[in-house]
Amino acid sequence: MEDKTIRLQLSETKKEKPNSDQLIFGRAFTDHMFVMDYSDPLGWHNASIVPYQPLMIDPSAMIFHYGQSVFEGLKAFRTADGEVQLFRPQKNFERLNLSSDRLCIPPIDEEFALKAIKQLVTVDKEWVPDAEGTSLYIRPFIISTEPYLGVAPSRHYKFIVILSPVGAYYKEGINPVKIAVENKYVRAVKGGTGEAKTGGNYAASLKAQEDVSKEGFAQVLWLDGVEQKYVEEVGSMNVFFKIGGEVVTPKLNGSILAGVTRNSVIELLKHWGIPVSERRISMEELYQAHQDGLLEEAFGSGTAAVISPIGQLTWDGKDMVINGGNTGEISQKVYDTITGIQYGKVEDPFNWIVKVEAKSAVKH
Ligand SMILES: *Cc1c(COP(=O)(O)O)cnc(C)c1O
Repeated sequence: MEDKTIRLQLSETKKEKPNSDQLIFGRAFTDHMFVMDYSDPLGWHNASIVPYQPLMIDPSAMIFHYGQSVFEGLKAFRTADGEVQLFRPQKNFERLNLSSDRLCIPPIDEEFALKAIKQLVTVDKEWVPDAEGTSLYIRPFIISTEPYLGVAPSRHYKFIVILSPVGAYYKEGINPVKIAVENKYVRAVKGGTGEAKTGGNYAASLKAQEDVSKEGFAQVLWLDGVEQKYVEEVGSMNVFFKIGGEVVTPKLNGSILAGVTRNSVIELLKHWGIPVSERRISMEELYQAHQDGLLEEAFGSGTAAVISPIGQLTWDGKDMVINGGNTGEISQKVYDTITGIQYGKVEDPFNWIVKVEAKSAVKH
């Protein structure tokens, strides 16, 4: 039977916290982390919150050689009355298990994982910044740790959660970016690991990102890996277009990551009665819509930025300026509503918010 107690070992020292106006994404980490082990006969065990520290891992551990790993990303927000809350965390653990299944990693108990991050965030609650637009980024991940060079699913894993205070993504309001349509490299192919949140997909995407950033683009727009005709994602965000009054986003096809923000955008648009559809979208169609003056807005969606408006798309040397390079009305409205719900400023009709301090609160 799996042991479900969480041992708590508090750090004897406290690190200095960075100023909230100097937070750089993913650079500073809090005082504690959550760790849990998996081994073949035992299942998941040894759940503990311990001081943030380096890991001791055998150099032959499978993660270093064959990349069997998955991760998640979500945030904790501080509300005006000082409470700390999460945005749809159940979705992240549901997706973690879907990713794990694709990578032959054993599932975790989703409810227990949620309890664990609530406890961890409670222990490091002082690290949740309170300045406008800041939050505490939560990074759960699983790595394969069996010391073995054979190619097979590992029989040992570590599930770890680390926390990092992050600054406001937009310091002066949301800002449209220039995007290059990627014609050379692909991120994922049908039947591959594109719909799993796994490090390998990111490793595969670096080269394209590096190439276009030299030319002044913020990100690439990924096309399908088979014909390179159909739109998939933008950078590590999902993508939406408003064409002739209707909002469209690529349908989940196995190579697209099912973003929590993507799902939230769709739910909100439906709630507002704005036409939205999930379907295949070709670059040819987008270009034609742009020529016809029907491409009204474009934006990316993801946990980090929430909404990232696209002011220009460049495809095969053709520049498509969207909405005069300005943030569109829907992009702005969706951004304001989702961030409003996250910080407790806007009513949450969907029950998306989960408070961190319930009965499981830890005293310290
Ligand atoms: C994480 C991720 C997204 C966005 O997902 P959210 O749950 O909205 O943060 C989109 N695309 C890729 C490739 C991702 O890894």
